[in-house]
Amino acid sequence: MHIYCKGFCYLCGNPLKIYMKSNNYEVRELIRKYKRIKPLWLYNNECFYKLFGSQKIKRTCYSCFKHLKKPNIEKLRNREIGKTNKLTIHPLSLSKNEILLWYEGLKRYIKREFKNRPIMIYNNI
Ligand SMILES: [Zn+2]
Repeated sequence: MHIYCKGFCYLCGNPLKIYMKSNNYEVRELIRKYKRIKPLWLYNNECFYKLFGSQKIKRTCYSCFKHLKKPNIEKLRNREIGKTNKLTIHPLSLSKNEILLWYEGLKRYIKREFKNRPIMIYNNI
């Protein structure tokens, strides 16, 4: 069982388009069950392409694509005089640590299910 991502967001650095792979069909069913027990909200981690400048295209998460904009003069002026500190909002997409924490829970759940018998491993050799 492995966890993959397609890349990282250019603005916030969170992983994009997360998916899991397994050779064992029983493990795949357990992953589906665990997703129902402890759901993972990954819609903000979908991969989107955003245009920077005239000809630069970068991969970003949905949250950054929708909310992050270049700060205008009014916001910069307010920061200079100490009216506000934040220029941009915190992204809503899940970070690497949050996803790995969920994955550790999934591993424990699968180990508990395969308590008395070993997990079947297929080899191509
Ligand atoms: Zn992002």
